[in-house]
Amino acid sequence: MAFAMATLELPDSLAPVLDAVTAVSGPYEGVYLVGGSVRDILLGEPNFDVDIVVEGDAIALARELAKKLDRRVRAHRTFGTAVVLYGEEGRVDVVTARSESYHAPAVLPAVKPGTIDEDLHRRDFTINAMAVSLKGDALGELVDPFGGRSDLEAGRIRILHERSFIDDPTRILRAIRYEDRYGFRMDDETVRLARECIATGHVGNLSGARLRDELEALLSEGDVSHAIPRLAELGAEREVHPHVVADEETVRLFGRLRELNKRYRLGVPPWRLGLAALGRGLPHQEIGPWLRDLKLRRRDAELIAAAIEHGPRIAAELGRDSLSPADVVALAEPRAPDAPLFALALDDQRQLHDYFDRLGELKLEITGADLAELGLAESPRVGEILAEVRRRKLNGELAGRESQLEAARELVEQP
Ligand code: ATP
Repeated sequence: MAFAMATLELPDSLAPVLDAVTAVSGPYEGVYLVGGSVRDILLGEPNFDVDIVVEGDAIALARELAKKLDRRVRAHRTFGTAVVLYGEEGRVDVVTARSESYHAPAVLPAVKPGTIDEDLHRRDFTINAMAVSLKGDALGELVDPFGGRSDLEAGRIRILHERSFIDDPTRILRAIRYEDRYGFRMDDETVRLARECIATGHVGNLSGARLRDELEALLSEGDVSHAIPRLAELGAEREVHPHVVADEETVRLFGRLRELNKRYRLGVPPWRLGLAALGRGLPHQEIGPWLRDLKLRRRDAELIAAAIEHGPRIAAELGRDSLSPADVVALAEPRAPDAPLFALALDDQRQLHDYFDRLGELKLEITGADLAELGLAESPRVGEILAEVRRRKLNGELAGRESQLEAARELVEQP
């Protein structure tokens, strides 16, 4: 490195980028590495996203940086921000230092250019409100106005001022997320203010989209065994929806859903499974409105609703009857993968393992083109015959292409 950050252990992978930032920092009042980047470096966590704050024109600096690194820059004029992508997975976000003022609780603030100090003052927690200068004489200096470093060492999450949660109640969910991720805890005063803010209804007043973003982030963390009961303990569970349940059973169910999702490589985003686990107690007529309020994409909302409504039903029907493999597919397939996955997480039934292992992917060796050759014109009958042949194959009756063609021929010839 071109400068000494005696106390900061900088990952080698960041050295070329930070050196390049320093090299282009000359014309600007101040240039800093900030927020999560500083936190993660102090924690020794790998993090390849670099957040830079500029006292001055962020877009101009980003353009110079991109030139230096021989990369492309994407600038957003309206926000005064820019992104430079580097290496395999790294990105540098460059923004102009801002000051913010909140005019109404739980609504996004007014923003204008400011100093690094003002920029740190608008942040969520002390551990996220540190900066390291990348410029001139001050190179490598830690700017830590709120004692973030000692909070980091103590594993403490602390807001910067009394009104912080009222200004932005999403910070409560962010705090819970950091508690889980790093095993940290909010200090007593922060917990008290969180409870107070929740009790006065500010979390409930958040727009659906903002609440959704935070819930998605929370439920996408690796381990949420602390976060879920914490939502309930602070009273936030009721604000997400009066019938949401965030208890140990939710933790267990969500864990099982994630495990099965991974095992069968289904690729369902974890937060979708988490929302289904949290919402499992909602009366059916309230599921749709809840998910609509959260402004989820329609397909995601449908699959979550299917899991809550049909998962338990699928589990019950499988338990009651001895069904054929084709019956199992008929039950599981229309709302796959979420609803049968939910059923399997509720009740570990062999038939559903079989569905995810093999049955769901079972393909026929014949297609519509074969039926056309047998003289069947394009019509709904084509689909019906293929479905019938598949049903028999699922039940183990028709092993190869020849026997499937034979069965199809008989069906085509039937009046
Ligand atoms: P991660 O992405 O790993 O969760 P991060 O700290 O990089 O951590 P971001 O959400 O990318 O998180 O936010 C970047 C920085 O912006 C934070 O470190 C924090 O300083 C600030 N920040 C983000 N959200 C808020 C908020 N709601 N209120 C105040 N400051 C925030």
